[in-house]
Amino acid sequence: MQDISRTFPIISDSDRWRARDLAVLWHPCTQMREHPDLLPLVPVARGDGAWLVGHDGRRWLDAVSSWWTNLHGHAEPRIAAAVAAQARTLEQVILAGFSHPPAVELAERLLALVPREPGRAPLAKVFYADNGSAGVEVALKMAFHWFRNRGETRRTRFVALENGYHGETLGALAVGDIPLYRRVYAPLLAEALFAPSPDAYLAEPGEGPAGRAERAAGALAELLDRHGGEVCALILEPRVQCAGGMRMHDPLYLRRVRELCDAHGIFLIADEIAVGFGRTGTLFACEQAPAAGDGPGGIQPDLMCVSKGLTGGFLPLAAVLATQAIYDGFLDDSRERAFLHSHSYTGNPLACAAGLASLEILEQDRVLERNRATAARMAELAAPLAELPHVAEVRQAGMILAFELTRNGDRRTPFEPALRVGLRAYRAAIARGVLLRPLGDVLYWMPPYCVDEAQLALLAQVTREAIEEATACA
Ligand SMILES: *Cc1c(COP(=O)(O)O)cnc(C)c1O
Repeated sequence: MQDISRTFPIISDSDRWRARDLAVLWHPCTQMREHPDLLPLVPVARGDGAWLVGHDGRRWLDAVSSWWTNLHGHAEPRIAAAVAAQARTLEQVILAGFSHPPAVELAERLLALVPREPGRAPLAKVFYADNGSAGVEVALKMAFHWFRNRGETRRTRFVALENGYHGETLGALAVGDIPLYRRVYAPLLAEALFAPSPDAYLAEPGEGPAGRAERAAGALAELLDRHGGEVCALILEPRVQCAGGMRMHDPLYLRRVRELCDAHGIFLIADEIAVGFGRTGTLFACEQAPAAGDGPGGIQPDLMCVSKGLTGGFLPLAAVLATQAIYDGFLDDSRERAFLHSHSYTGNPLACAAGLASLEILEQDRVLERNRATAARMAELAAPLAELPHVAEVRQAGMILAFELTRNGDRRTPFEPALRVGLRAYRAAIARGVLLRPLGDVLYWMPPYCVDEAQLALLAQVTREAIEEATACA
């Protein structure tokens, strides 16, 4: 056996854990060769609100909510208590043929909270899966299978948006458009139809976010005119393409997409996995679509995927919400017409109990109201950073705030990828006690909702220093 203490001089508990980790673990979304020299590996002993605490007492502010999952802070005592109580009662049960209270109650609460449009039959059924990608697979398969059950066998394709992201499994990758994750597996993927992103960052001079949204909707209309009859569903991330660099669009686009999906008789799948549960200021991002005529604002999708924040960041769980009409399309004497998709841990009671506790906190603590003040404070603290020479844009949607870094601070000249500006910023921030994991050269704040004034001030200060240090190479 290799003596790891020779490679890593052991001087502290953190070093010891780092060495043990690298001896056995293969980490996600990581070129392992970069550990530990180029990329620090940070062993965490416990979480405390917005802090991650190391074995030696060092702290890191979790400014990315641990991959956008955490809502109320780490080790939130009320969620922890709910999970512990559930673990002593019923930890897991098969969800085919059997049922349990947390699964039913969470479904009831979700259905009561999701967006509704008058005149449209509401989302009425909940199908559980156990992570976001699996939830996306469920929604895609449901849409396809529904048409098939009706004998519409030509509808085999999905429309997705350029720069979108829906997860890492092969079905989810097929409707994603991030080359870094997708390109290698392209030979394995079903061919989706990609429509231009409404991304406001790509607006032409003078066009503005709404103009960009209208132009993207026009291109989508043309795509559907050509291919509408082959399509079963359109999938998008409402309001913010998160993995695509926190690129934001005018919510007008959501209204247009709803209209186009209706006109072509295809399902609209809203992937609210990252933006759901208050991230963009409203409980769900679909609520922000402007009114059509005198009607109220907000659109209702036909299928909606939630995950990440669903359990407050405690346990993996996804839910796909569907209309009654979609559900009814599977009722038949034939089992093959049923939706047989299943995962062993579908609707796990511990995860559902965490979800119920998290929703309770969102309501009881009036979290969305408090977030409005927090988001306003984030905007104030970020404003001076917009003046830094390499910051091309600071953009915000509620509790998501992003800094786009470019070579000259304009939108035309990104940094040479080889400079790895994002990675440099990441290292600079880690060294200063903040977890600020970039997407390419986009830095973003997506903190737990419990983040306080002192933590935000630290975040702003460290972000400034990280940008300055990372861009000094240019
Ligand atoms: C994270 C994410 C997914 C995938 O969820 P996982 O739980 O990581 O599989 C899907 N869609 C969006 C928009 C996401 O941000």
